[in-house]
Amino acid sequence: SNPIHVVGGGLAGSEAAWQIAEAGLPVVLHEMRPLRGTEAHQTQNLAELVCSNSFRSDDAEQNAVGLLHQEMRRLGSLVMRCGDANQVPAGGALAVDRDGFSRAVTAALDGHPNVTIAREEIDGVPPAAWDSVIVATGPLTAPGLAEGIRGLTGADSLAFFDAIAPIVHRDSIDMGKAWFQSRYDKVGPGGTGADYINCPLDREQYAAFVAALVAGDKTSFKEWEASTPYFDGCLPIEVMAERGPETLRHGPMKPFGLTNPHNPTVKAYAIVQLRQDNALGTLYNMVGFQTKLRHAEQVRIFRTIPGLENAEFARLGGLHRNTYLDSPRLLDATLRLKAAPRLRFAGQITGCEGYVESAAIGLMAGRFAAAERQGRILEPLPVTTALGALIGHITGGHVLAEDAGAPRSFQPMNVNFGLFPPLDRAPKAPDGKRLRGPEKAQAKKRAMTDRARASLSEWLGEAPAPLPAAAE
Ligand code: FAD
Repeated sequence: SNPIHVVGGGLAGSEAAWQIAEAGLPVVLHEMRPLRGTEAHQTQNLAELVCSNSFRSDDAEQNAVGLLHQEMRRLGSLVMRCGDANQVPAGGALAVDRDGFSRAVTAALDGHPNVTIAREEIDGVPPAAWDSVIVATGPLTAPGLAEGIRGLTGADSLAFFDAIAPIVHRDSIDMGKAWFQSRYDKVGPGGTGADYINCPLDREQYAAFVAALVAGDKTSFKEWEASTPYFDGCLPIEVMAERGPETLRHGPMKPFGLTNPHNPTVKAYAIVQLRQDNALGTLYNMVGFQTKLRHAEQVRIFRTIPGLENAEFARLGGLHRNTYLDSPRLLDATLRLKAAPRLRFAGQITGCEGYVESAAIGLMAGRFAAAERQGRILEPLPVTTALGALIGHITGGHVLAEDAGAPRSFQPMNVNFGLFPPLDRAPKAPDGKRLRGPEKAQAKKRAMTDRARASLSEWLGEAPAPLPAAAE
């Protein structure tokens, strides 16, 4: 039969192609690299991670992205399989060796008999002869295709800014001042409880650092760019610093859960954390330090951090633009463009945010396309699952505020418990008493993730997984 075409071999496109191939259907994956690059990609590997090497929390009971990991594993995700196989220690997070990970994804697709990889740019609307296409070209979609999509949708694509964090050579960090420790000594998959490198600042050092960030020379903006908003989860460090002198101490530089072994009696006023970036452990990225400072300014200012006086940077921070569709208005429940249903969309261009979320939407787009080709009806995913909640956010499964007469704006979003329907009733303690505080919050998350597991089992037509005992 006609192959299904996937445009873009990133996180979403790779996963979509894999799902289609595994359903027994031929698929052509079109990737423009290395013929044409983007501002962020550096290799020709499929599913390249362009910034952080973290898939975030792997806790499937207390964290929405951890739950999403688990659901994707249950649906045979290639991205999760290769992520798990290329893990590096990172506390409670799932972080990966970026090269090992994308090489594994590339090799799996390359070796699959149903997959053809075409290294070419799709310049404009995909050819009319392709009757089923998944567009997964990401935040840095090449301009020709972006223009084509704009022409089809008749709507302006929205844009905002994202920034990337610097990476430091581990052997240039002064371990006489810095130390290894995970916050609250948390031990995660493959971790030791001492996975992060920590650099302490006292009150004066912190004040001087914040002042330097605010005064630092930033990349200049064109006028049209100046009004483009930032995505709140990826604010540049200097923009956070501008919000107030204490903002960083309560954000990426928070000092809690860490004790400086070089000076155990004095609490650091603020702490910079670095996370292992490659399997060898030779590179560390500065957690939360995405920035649009000029490169020379980054080097000068970051070397005022104790322990980083002689830091050598493997990569400096940067800034990029992000383009995404107004999906709730433009896409149907199976991610098809209402105006041209032969085109489906997947990944960050649909307005999800993050590697895992992008891959998750790719996974579902692949399954939707495969089911359509095979004449099967794929039941919608329950909104009580992480996958269903995320698709609901993107396709506007919930009522559009616009229809209720209120102004609305569709914002890209990481998966989070706020996207799930609330619980029918609040969980109670085993003795029937009302729970309070952190215990209540934990019990609610556990109840939501239990509910999600049961819903997914039902959707998959599996016997429900045994629910964990109510009390421990
Ligand atoms: P991508 O992974 O970007 O894949 C799109 C692919 O399409 C690319 O390979 C590209 O070469 C190809 N392509 C584009 N146009 C065409 C065309 N016309 N024809 C053929 N091929 C084409 N998320 C996180 O979770 N953590 C982070 O730290 C993080 N940092 C980011 C930093 C930057 C600079 C950017 C841009 C994004 C970042 N994101 C991050 C957000 C997002 O999760 C990633 O961009 C993710 O890779 C998106 O997956 P995707 O599959 O939608 O797009």
